[in-house]
Amino acid sequence: MRFEISKVLDAIEGRVCTDPSLARAVLDLAEVIRYQNLDGGRPASLLRLGMVIDALARDLEEDSVPVYAIVHRALLSDADLTSNERMVVRRWADDGLVEVLDNPGDRMLEVADLLGLPVLSRARFDGVRGRFPWVAEQPGRVLAPVPGAGGPVFIGHVGGGNVPVAGTRSATGAKLLARQWRCPEPGCALFGGGGGGGAFADLARVERAPAGQPPPALRGGVPTCPRHGARLGDAGPRPRTEVLAVRVGGLIRRRFVLTEGQSVLVGRAPEQQGGIVLGQWLNDEARRWISRGHVRFELRVGEVIVTDVSTNGSGIRPSGSMAEPDRIPLKPQQSRVLSANDMVELYPGVQIGRADELPTGAPFTPTSVMAEAPTMAMRLPRP
Ligand SMILES: [Zn+2]
Repeated sequence: MRFEISKVLDAIEGRVCTDPSLARAVLDLAEVIRYQNLDGGRPASLLRLGMVIDALARDLEEDSVPVYAIVHRALLSDADLTSNERMVVRRWADDGLVEVLDNPGDRMLEVADLLGLPVLSRARFDGVRGRFPWVAEQPGRVLAPVPGAGGPVFIGHVGGGNVPVAGTRSATGAKLLARQWRCPEPGCALFGGGGGGGAFADLARVERAPAGQPPPALRGGVPTCPRHGARLGDAGPRPRTEVLAVRVGGLIRRRFVLTEGQSVLVGRAPEQQGGIVLGQWLNDEARRWISRGHVRFELRVGEVIVTDVSTNGSGIRPSGSMAEPDRIPLKPQQSRVLSANDMVELYPGVQIGRADELPTGAPFTPTSVMAEAPTMAMRLPRP
């Protein structure tokens, strides 16, 4: 049973991130974990995060929707969590997948404001509506997860909108996210560390950081590390990025970030680090057709370039057209600049395009992050 739960926690781990391009909602992890009525289980359970993420995936009709979790430091030693759950949250904190703060204050709303994300919380935030007017004005921007028949559902605080709706990044957010930032605190998981240390883990973080850095906190107008309270140094322009999405069988399965200067290989099971693995969503025929590494994407001077590196070739669907005569073959080793609405088709029903332009049009049920969890695992007493 413990093993099953570990697998669920691993699945949930794939859906928490502080990457401004990938996170789809902001939440207070402690609030979700302690929301006992959600499943009637233990006083605190990390599995509730999985339930809320599943609900978000259903509402947004995508398979994998990462959330930006703000975590009060006290949660790392919360005795109501199992030791395994505490260990998992600490690892998320160390890897910068969640934001651990001594005093979260308005940080959740600040992140939502800077990134234009919806907030999932039962709090009403009445006191901050002057600073964040969208809290009261935009339906779907602040929603409470509540127990529903098939798992949690969302209820909007204003305007009756019950589906989370993204806004736009605030002007300040856009400005902050145009730069890279450095925290002077050595080994800072959020802002790339200030040197020293030298452990491999730190190097990996620094390498991952530039394009996926979270938005700085603003204290008195000064970009600040929300974790350490230190003033952040400007480390130059942030590399350009483009968010691409993988659609299989009409449903968007995941999004990924293409960063200027870093190619991304997509295929059945690419060997390149950071490659996008499609294997788990493919039927036998598609698995036989699609190469381990099938297409390579690059972002050069703002243009998305796709190169076929497969055995069998692929195709371009110009402007997303599904009409067969429109399909342009992309032969092995051929490259092409992807126009705004173009999709690359690796195999019928397996497409990749810009996330904003790729509708998720299928009445499919997203795969649950809880799929591995036996129902009774949710009610397990604390060992
Ligand atoms: Zn820091």
